[in-house]
Amino acid sequence: MTTVYNFSAGPAVLPKPVLEKAKSELLDYQNSGMSVMELSHRSSLFEAIIQDAEQLLRELMQIPDNYQVLFLQGGASLQFTMVPLNLAQNKKAHYINTGTWSKKAISEAKKLATVEVDVLASSEDKNFTYIPEVTEAMIDPDAAYVHITTNNTIEGTAFTDLPNTGNVPLVADMSSNILANDYKVSDFGVIYAGAQKNIGPAGLTVVIIRDDLLGLCEVPSAMLDYKLQADNHSLYNTPPTYSIYIAKLVFEWIKEQGAIAGILKQDQEKAALLYEAIDRSALFSSPVDPAFRSLTNIPFVTGDEALDKKFVAQATQQGFENLKGHRLVGGMRASLYNAFPIEGVHALIDFMQTFEQEFTQENGGN
Ligand SMILES: *Cc1c(COP(=O)(O)O)cnc(C)c1O
Repeated sequence: MTTVYNFSAGPAVLPKPVLEKAKSELLDYQNSGMSVMELSHRSSLFEAIIQDAEQLLRELMQIPDNYQVLFLQGGASLQFTMVPLNLAQNKKAHYINTGTWSKKAISEAKKLATVEVDVLASSEDKNFTYIPEVTEAMIDPDAAYVHITTNNTIEGTAFTDLPNTGNVPLVADMSSNILANDYKVSDFGVIYAGAQKNIGPAGLTVVIIRDDLLGLCEVPSAMLDYKLQADNHSLYNTPPTYSIYIAKLVFEWIKEQGAIAGILKQDQEKAALLYEAIDRSALFSSPVDPAFRSLTNIPFVTGDEALDKKFVAQATQQGFENLKGHRLVGGMRASLYNAFPIEGVHALIDFMQTFEQEFTQENGGN
């Protein structure tokens, strides 16, 4: 088998031990003679899987009892509609515009005629390279929520401090840094995340929602109704059973890494190594304000598009997969999610140094 380092922003690398466990159980789950993929979602075997998954996530994120955990479908993108539909009809909803995904959340909310969308602050003036400041005074106390994207997957920025929203619930798209931060769940009204970055395979969307935010609005669709989904423990219809099973294995793996504290230490170490290498380099640089650097998605550029292209092509030949930056930003991007091994960071840094030396020699430098 070819060994590669997969820097994909999503679907992303999964922990090897998780894939091995899934492989060993693929044809025969717990002597049932069936694969998890073949189990009824109403069977006791699957019920144990979804309950364990929820319990593990509650333990890892220390989710208080007055929050529901939902395992839904439709990706983070469907949450761009579900959040305003369930929380903000006939009300105002504040958004902080910090990147491509925030913009999409805003544009989807604006499609709902019953919701008044207000953009509190934006970093679009500087290509989303920083996080704008928001103070409590800017927030309408009657607003349904303030929506943020905690980690901007494409631009490589993250909220270090959360905005103080007073009594107005904070809603977070945490798709690319859930389980890679030590935010407190009680600081949020709603947290949502597509699974394919830091949780498991695509097809699963995790929503964590405070009880008092359920059933606030009339929702004209069963599938889009948080309350109905919560009342049915995410089993209103067939949930993405296999993705939930893999997520459960990933949660177990994180627990073995020392839970959030342990995994966060690894993430910080990996990110620090790469940022140091970028900062040391005369060729590569980070386009992002250092105060708001993401731990999980690290963009870097040479400043010359053709050279970026050459770097990505050579890197791919060496087994560094998916380093090409997002088409909207260009350059390179290394996504260092929880499952990405530190050896891959060392290997990338070595490769960057070799590339830089060759470039300097070819260009008559020293
Ligand atoms: C990937 C991503 C999305 C989109 O997720 P889907 O599950 O593909 O809909 C939304 N927000 C953020 C922050 C992301 O990283």
